[in-house]
Amino acid sequence: MTASPLPPAPAKAAPKISFVSLGCPKALVDSERILTHLRAEGYELARRHDGADVVIVNTCGFLDSAKAESLSAIGEAMAENGRVIVTGCMGAQPDEIREKYPNLLAVTGPQAYESVVAAVHAAVPPAHDPFLDLVPPQGVKLTPRHYAYLKISEGCNNRCTFCIIPSLRGDLVSRPAGDVLREAEKLVKAGVKELLVVSQDTSAYGVDIRYAESPWRDRAVRAKFYDLAAELGELGAWVRMHYVYPYPHVDEVIPLMAEGKILPYLDMPLQHASPSVLKRMRRPGNQERQLERIRRWREICPDLAIRSTFIVGFPGETEAEFEELLTWIREAKLERVGCFEFEPVAGAVANGLGDLVPPEVKAERKRRFMEAQQAVSARLQKARIGKRLPVIIDAADGTVAKGRSKYDAPEIDGNVHVTARRPLRVGDIVTVKIERADAYDLYGSAV
Ligand code: SF4
Repeated sequence: MTASPLPPAPAKAAPKISFVSLGCPKALVDSERILTHLRAEGYELARRHDGADVVIVNTCGFLDSAKAESLSAIGEAMAENGRVIVTGCMGAQPDEIREKYPNLLAVTGPQAYESVVAAVHAAVPPAHDPFLDLVPPQGVKLTPRHYAYLKISEGCNNRCTFCIIPSLRGDLVSRPAGDVLREAEKLVKAGVKELLVVSQDTSAYGVDIRYAESPWRDRAVRAKFYDLAAELGELGAWVRMHYVYPYPHVDEVIPLMAEGKILPYLDMPLQHASPSVLKRMRRPGNQERQLERIRRWREICPDLAIRSTFIVGFPGETEAEFEELLTWIREAKLERVGCFEFEPVAGAVANGLGDLVPPEVKAERKRRFMEAQQAVSARLQKARIGKRLPVIIDAADGTVAKGRSKYDAPEIDGNVHVTARRPLRVGDIVTVKIERADAYDLYGSAV
């Protein structure tokens, strides 16, 4: 953290914080923690920068485009308010930010909650009111009340060559299972219907603490992917797993999905399918027989939905390697797929691993990839017509609503558009008969 160039503002009855949260769900969880802490101390949230006592910008530094977005959000906060604290992934590179905005109050790195809070205290001291409990027991949530992200670990032990997250966030640090479960229980008691489990590498959960047991209710629970999934599955909410890599022990979790304990959904960023590219990417869980494993999982849990992301145009990617990916994607028949063109992130090892693929070739490969996937998606979407699916409602206007099936995560996957005979409310889980489908969304009536 660097020191503030401005003197502290005079304390008011309830100092106001304006907050910008950029980046991935993991960053959102960090934002929620910072806000929960500040709300507990009596700070209020302002709707606009203008008029707030201080602005906090939680940045993302993963891709150059995310950095540009972060810098522009900082610029906006400086122009509209001028008292700005920067944190998050981009905060790990303070010089780059300071060069552009020398008058920031403070710049702190990711996971530096105490530093952010200290910087806020320095800028505007908290109004102390020990009799007022301002924080709901589940903390301050930035997601709608009916779903919440549950972060089970920080950092990552992998060293994928295109990624700089480990250098920004450090090695894996898992939370004890008991802590995670208590947070999950509080969320469910507060009305959360869907828990979205996030981390950088969910299936590696607990490796750093040797799967240590911790107390939960009347028993001890190991900090292990399967054990945590099984316990979360008992809390009475939908449980959705994100950032799961295909390690062999993921096999154990699939029966929990088949039994309906957790959602039959795996967000598994595979990034490529050609073994030689995966090797250059240094991806975790790089298995020769990935297709075979997916097939086995589907035998155990036939309605398993897999979402994945892929990178095309990785340095040195040949046409033959790309063709391998195309063949794989046609055979794997994944429900939801995202595709990114490789972006050389400053500081990533991958940049020096082979000739950069020209932009027009990357764009062309992305187009061909998406075309192949769209044919797969169209068939899978069509197969849902006539089915009755449970749908969680995200937005409702009387008898017209928008929600998601078990196969869709918020913000990244498709929606189910619902009409009903009675008014629906956000957070309701209703059975919907699917009548129509397009490439991404489903349409139907509540039964
Ligand atoms: S698994 Fe790879 S891509 Fe994901 S955070 Fe770790 S190093 Fe980065």
